[in-house]
Amino acid sequence: MRQTEASDAATRLAAVRETLARAAALAGRPADAVTLIAISKTIPADGIVPLLEAGQRAFGENRVQEAQVKWPALRDRYAGVVLHLVGQLQSNKVADAVALFDAIHSIDRSSLVQALGKALAASNRRPDCFLQVNIGDEPQKGGCAIAALPALLSEARAAGLPVVGLMAVPPADTEAAPYFALLAKLAKDHGLAQLSMGMSGDYETAAMLGATHVRVGTALFGGRQPA
Ligand SMILES: *Cc1c(COP(=O)(O)O)cnc(C)c1O
Repeated sequence: MRQTEASDAATRLAAVRETLARAAALAGRPADAVTLIAISKTIPADGIVPLLEAGQRAFGENRVQEAQVKWPALRDRYAGVVLHLVGQLQSNKVADAVALFDAIHSIDRSSLVQALGKALAASNRRPDCFLQVNIGDEPQKGGCAIAALPALLSEARAAGLPVVGLMAVPPADTEAAPYFALLAKLAKDHGLAQLSMGMSGDYETAAMLGATHVRVGTALFGGRQPA
């Protein structure tokens, strides 16, 4: 890690935190109402270290296997890391995910709810669970249909999942705000306090519309290598 790369990462982190704090303040929310999750998918460990050195502790990954390779050693060096899974989860990876992650944002179907229920019962782990909603009703996109949310939520609660909130990725290349507002309404209607929404291009908007977790990758790390 060259010194300039490290200071670049710290500078970007400070800028994102400042933007978030300003957006929260405009909406009358305290700055600590929004958790910044640094999405470190495809970033090697030595690209993550500068953010850890700068005090960042919440990180997100989208692949269980990649996270298993990178994070145990980083966690040994830095106390207090909170790891979020934001990518699609296969049922056969559920036990590994439960062992490693402190929060799972991508719960979007009955089979996954059932697999998670079993994995939690067999472990002493209680990761925060977010149900992912296909908020723009897009084909091929992860997330349960809006109309299917009530049933999935009941099922998840019955299966013993600690469901804390909703997560969504709005359609690309459109104004995200209406989708964020819709997700916030759904969460409120269902008594869920947490909202995982907002990425590099729109985290400021999300923070103004009630996000409790924003998932920011490129704005912190710069461009990703193709996966
Ligand atoms: C990659 C990813 C992000 C971060 O995206 P950026 O645009 O790089 O900030 C957020 N959420 C999910 C689900 C992702 O896969």
